[in-house]
Amino acid sequence: MSTTYVAAAGVVDDRCIVRPRYDVADDGSISWAGNSDDRGAPPPAERVRDFGRALVVPGMVNAHSHAFQRAIRGATHGRAPDDPSDFWSWRDAMYHAATTLDPQGVYAVTRRAYSEMLAAGITCVGEFHYLHHQPNGQPYDDANELSWQVVRAAADVGIRLVLLEVYYARAGADRPPLAEQRRFCDRDVDAYAGRIAALRAAGVRVGIAPHSVRAVGRPALLDLATLARSLDVPVHVHVSEQPRENDECQTEHGCSPMQLLASVGLTDRPRTFTAVHGVHTTAADHAVLADQHVCACPTTEADLGDGLLPASELRAVGSRLAVGSDSNAVIDLIQEARLLEMGERLRSGRRSCLAPDERGRNLGAALAAIASEGGASSLGFHHLGRLAPGYQFDAAVIDLGHPLLAGVDPTHVLDAIWTTGHAGLVSATVVGGREYG
Ligand SMILES: [Zn+2]
Repeated sequence: MSTTYVAAAGVVDDRCIVRPRYDVADDGSISWAGNSDDRGAPPPAERVRDFGRALVVPGMVNAHSHAFQRAIRGATHGRAPDDPSDFWSWRDAMYHAATTLDPQGVYAVTRRAYSEMLAAGITCVGEFHYLHHQPNGQPYDDANELSWQVVRAAADVGIRLVLLEVYYARAGADRPPLAEQRRFCDRDVDAYAGRIAALRAAGVRVGIAPHSVRAVGRPALLDLATLARSLDVPVHVHVSEQPRENDECQTEHGCSPMQLLASVGLTDRPRTFTAVHGVHTTAADHAVLADQHVCACPTTEADLGDGLLPASELRAVGSRLAVGSDSNAVIDLIQEARLLEMGERLRSGRRSCLAPDERGRNLGAALAAIASEGGASSLGFHHLGRLAPGYQFDAAVIDLGHPLLAGVDPTHVLDAIWTTGHAGLVSATVVGGREYG
């Protein structure tokens, strides 16, 4: 028994549709999408879900999250006399939270973060998960105890999950992990691969995630590249978030983080690698990322003083952009995409930087695609992130009656949403045909 979803006004991809209609099969996939007027006879009323005066846009895909960091929202802005109040002092506060969570705490904070994501129109999350073991580094009886808590939280909320299992080994070159980093660390790559196998056997979608070139040495990066290739799963890595990471990599390896990751084979497979942040990257790094993804996290990058992503340069060489909520201080991919564009304006002195054509047309649609299709591609999905036949019906419903949109010309409504809006515009979220909100 299929269901038909309609709305009074809507946009499918970059095509305006007067009254969009989506016929959705029981498996949550779209069997037909288009204008109601083109479809002929309407389906029985009991099978129609009418969203009224709303826009239906593709569900947003959050390509980078650390759910547990939701626990320190607003709590890191004081400044002690000897505190430089920079990325590294923020990290100390975050580590304190990381060391105090037990399995129930991980479940509770993750569920809270994912509930907020779903309400914000986010239908799928890539969780860059590195809380693995007990605070002293000893594995729990089940080495995947904390991963299962994340899986359970996502299932209970109803959001799609790709568990980007993090491999973490050290504090830096020739430095063992700090006490507060021990629970992030597996014994070795074999132990990590064992955890990955157990998760996959239970049907969990996973990705391979070396934390960063600071936290993983070259031999382990080589092994992780082999593992990712053999499993044919996505690879996500924190890359060049801070200048210090670049400096340390130059000292240890004589090259940039991106060049090191390429040299071990992690970027060999097209469209399977995602550089998270990529703020302090060069043209040579961008060349490596030409057929890969870069995940920007502008609210977190602003919060932590990381810098601005060279998004235009990356787009120019063919990189696919995605966005993530990262620290979850803010959970709002409309804001992430908006700030990605605004960061480019601040950096370049120009406007409509990420629009697909020279005249700046369809900027809103381009930002929407970054927040949906870009993330889906980054996480390895081929039928997610668009509202088209064969794709899953994952959607965010935008309330056109919201005061923020009052008086906006209908032909400019997408640009208004994506250049001035926020997640408060989302009135309902649909995941695989199941409605929340
Ligand atoms: Zn991160």
